[in-house]
Parts: sequence; C-alpha cells; structure tokens
Amino acid sequence: MNCPVCDETAVSVQEDLWDDLYGYPGQFALMQCPNCGHAFLDCVLSPNQLAKLYTSYYPRKTFEMLTTSRIQKKEVDYVRGWTV
Ligand SMILES: [Zn+2]
Repeated sequence: MNCPVCDETAVSVQEDLWDDLYGYPGQFALMQCPNCGHAFLDCVLSPNQLAKLYTSYYPRKTFEMLTTSRIQKKEVDYVRGWTV
C-alpha cells in the first residue's frame, strides 16, 4: 500500500488492530511511510462506509461542544494546578 502523502511504498508497523472503543468491525494494520513518516490504517473506506462509520459507530448527535469544552477547561485547570 502506498503512502497517501508522498506515494512511497509504506510498511506495516502493527497488525491485527481493532476498534476497542466503539466496536467498528474488522481488523486493520497500521502502516507507516519510510519516506515522510506519515502513519495510516491499511483500509480505504468508500463514501457509504464512511457514512455508516460516523453515524452508526461514532454518533455525533450525542456530542455537545459546550459540555466538551467545559470538561477540557477543567482538565486544563487541573493540570495547571499541578504545574504552578
Ligand atoms: Zn509518505
């Protein structure tokens, strides 16, 4: 499989990876380009597969930016508390 950035032949650096967080089916390999260092999965999803991935396995309708921002601010404040 060629690198999508520079078209060099990429090498597999990790095999048999799976989505242990959201359960998207399949096993994948992590590829890395020896020329530019870009890392990517060995799968090329069609537009229909991408749509299913993001609507069925990564439901964005439950994502709330305001809530997420507040959580991130708390985490940042927490870390700052340890570094001051
Ligand atoms: Zn590359």
